[in-house]
Amino acid sequence: MAGSKSKAPVVKAQEKHGYEFAGPPGAFAISFLLPIVVYITNFVCNDIYGCPIPSVLDPKTLTWDKIKTETGWPGWNGIVSLEATGWVLGYYFLSLVLHRFLPGQIVEGTELAIGGRLKYKFNTLSSSIFTVVLLLAGTIAQGADFPVWTYIWDNYTQIVTANMLIAFTLATFVYIRSFSVKPGNKDMRELAAGGHSGNMLYDWFIGRELNPRVTLPIFGEIDIKVFCELRPGLFGWIVLDVAFIAHQYKTYGYVTDSIILITLFQALYVFDSFYMEPSMLTTMDITTDGFGFMLSFGDLAWVPFIYSLQARYLAVYPLTLGLSGNAGVLAILSLGYYIFRSANNQKNRFRTDPSDPRIAHLKYMETASGSKLIISGWWGTARHINYLGDWIMSWAFCLPTGVAGYLVQQGPALLDGETGFSRGEDRVVQGGARGWGMAISYFYVIYFAILLIHRERRDETKCMRKYGKDWEEYKKIVPWRIIPGIY
Ligand code: NDP
Repeated sequence: MAGSKSKAPVVKAQEKHGYEFAGPPGAFAISFLLPIVVYITNFVCNDIYGCPIPSVLDPKTLTWDKIKTETGWPGWNGIVSLEATGWVLGYYFLSLVLHRFLPGQIVEGTELAIGGRLKYKFNTLSSSIFTVVLLLAGTIAQGADFPVWTYIWDNYTQIVTANMLIAFTLATFVYIRSFSVKPGNKDMRELAAGGHSGNMLYDWFIGRELNPRVTLPIFGEIDIKVFCELRPGLFGWIVLDVAFIAHQYKTYGYVTDSIILITLFQALYVFDSFYMEPSMLTTMDITTDGFGFMLSFGDLAWVPFIYSLQARYLAVYPLTLGLSGNAGVLAILSLGYYIFRSANNQKNRFRTDPSDPRIAHLKYMETASGSKLIISGWWGTARHINYLGDWIMSWAFCLPTGVAGYLVQQGPALLDGETGFSRGEDRVVQGGARGWGMAISYFYVIYFAILLIHRERRDETKCMRKYGKDWEEYKKIVPWRIIPGIY
């Protein structure tokens, strides 16, 4: 499945690249801090004391002992578990088996800098549907007590750690192995243009080799970056959401519209990317970025555990939205999805099949690089209008958590008319936490805005490098970055 060599290599790998993400200090800060953020969101928002825990609301009373108690801190040894790591590895292994044995579409990637195109096998959609059927069968048989759901809830921290360890190991493995990439090799291996600065930490973070692949007995050739991009983490996000629904049901005996809506929206987003899987080959992650800790951690740990925070919140605070709430959020999602999908489709069709009648009306400009740039339709409104659609959707993922925040109080069941929820001996009430939980349940909207603004700047630099004066010309025709008329 390696790929096909072309006769005329295009030389782009040798182009000069500066540091991104503020260079080695930035790489260090991100690699060190983001894993901590994942743990903080887990410990500071829990089902034992509150979201956020009460001592965060009253910093004067903050002590280490209090924090340890309220966060349910399991101790350093407790955050990692051999058993949970084994199950997580089993989950990755299942994905690998399905990747190998289910039929898939074979697609060629974009032209490599050293010439030629790699071949990829795509079957994430069918693999995921297969896994969904297995999970559904288990749920039909055992309901919310199906061990996959209860295990995830009970071993959440250890599952987080397992994914982080896998991300760290993979990044280190591909970094070391990248030193065996030799000029003129026959396997179409190449270094990422911006990934071999010579600074060990930075290169490990940003990714030294562009398309690291391994050949495994039985499984054949696996493209590590493409495997990680959608399969374990993105699907894992939805598995986590469903585990949270099961927990809500187990706790309260019912499931609320808010958690169902969020899970449906996020499943739509995730399965849409599975359906459009080959279009991943033209994204920056695949064409430009090497595979390092940035992508391995992002794909395997950050995406599933940070993106599912809203459903995790609602598992404990079962908010009901009602008809108008549902309609409002659905309208926001529909608008975002419409912009996101139609803009991305326009560009994909234009790049892969310019004769497609659906995009034949678009105006474009020729460039010296040989590639054309669309200057009308969605891509004539802003240079990354697709990011705007994506960001609008992120609001629909968070708004169903309402004005978030709760405290868990010991005490008698609530009386009719009291706000809050009875949970055995506990009461889950908003109290002084109302609003403060939004730091967790709306984290995605804020983080995603930062990611997209930063990503747009990175892509701008990439396009400037590729198109030069033509890009300047394009910017005059399409002056807005993401939001027409505003930014
Ligand atoms: P884009 O899909 O926006 O692709 C950018 C590339 O498109 C440019 O490098 C350029 O490549 C090409 N291009 C730019 N302008 C034009 C034009 N006018 N006409 C034709 N081609 C053009 O980039 P991303 O990979 O960042 O995003 C893909 C999708 O994934 C987006 O919708 C984004 O929102 C989403 N995303 C989601 C994330 C998440 O965590 N949920 C994270 C990152 C992205 P070239 O000319 O070389 O072909």
